[in-house]
Amino acid sequence: MPVIIIHGGAGRIKNAAAHRRGIKKALQIGWAILNQGGKALDAVCEAVKYMEDSTIFNCGSGATLTLDGTVELDASVMIGQGEYGAVGAIKQVKNPILVARQVMEKTDHLLLVGPGAQKFSRRRGFKKYEKILEVQKRRLARFKKRGNSAYFPKLNNYLKLGTVGAVALDNDNQIAVANSTGGILGKMPGRVGDTPIFGAGVYATKNSGVAATGHGEEIIRLFLAKYVADLTDGLPAQKAVSKGIAMAKEKNVLCGVIGLDRKGNVGYGFTTKSMSWGYIGKAGEMRLF
Ligand code: ASP
Repeated sequence: MPVIIIHGGAGRIKNAAAHRRGIKKALQIGWAILNQGGKALDAVCEAVKYMEDSTIFNCGSGATLTLDGTVELDASVMIGQGEYGAVGAIKQVKNPILVARQVMEKTDHLLLVGPGAQKFSRRRGFKKYEKILEVQKRRLARFKKRGNSAYFPKLNNYLKLGTVGAVALDNDNQIAVANSTGGILGKMPGRVGDTPIFGAGVYATKNSGVAATGHGEEIIRLFLAKYVADLTDGLPAQKAVSKGIAMAKEKNVLCGVIGLDRKGNVGYGFTTKSMSWGYIGKAGEMRLF
């Protein structure tokens, strides 16, 4: 039986009902693909694409803004066979997750960033697109009003979380992970977080798939997704995720993690106040936060 688990970010979730609706719909999209014998990679990419378009989450059309008021997006995909592709700080593209997938499938590179990533997306036929929500402009204005107009803001004090991630296991026992984010409110232009970084925000092996969310700089330092994936080699997903979360808590890192193992067990956990998540498990049951 296939399995899919999704998160909509860790932190303080103000619009829980919208998150729940968005996660439910994303799960249904991913599940429909898996249930018809489709690939885990297609399931996670389509689920994340829906979340990028929804404007509910901090990714794609709903992304948070840089200090300059621009949108810069990070996204990644990875499959259990070890293949990985990602984009960082990419501008003016609607679905960075699909560009990340094309980096994996169409190039010899792993990670493209900034103008180079944008150029690649145009060459691959992705149209110029930029959506800046009024609510995001107001959030940035409030952020600056609090005295954060200088560069090098102390991110720990002003974290605005809300990346999305999806992990799936298909009928052929393949595992895939997809991640997408607008990053952290008020980030410096050019900043790349953990979301597209191999081993930090995303990791997959033949036995496990893991996606992390939260304070990107700290997640990179912990190499969190790899840490949890390695643990999953000997433990069921929930135990591995809980150990990873305990380690992050000890180091005061604000984060959340979802994962699954090849037996179809899922795991989730967070050190923040809350995290939005949902899954369709191996008995076909849907659970939402
Ligand atoms: N991890 C993301 C970043 O640091 C933010 C988030 O998960 O909300 O860019």
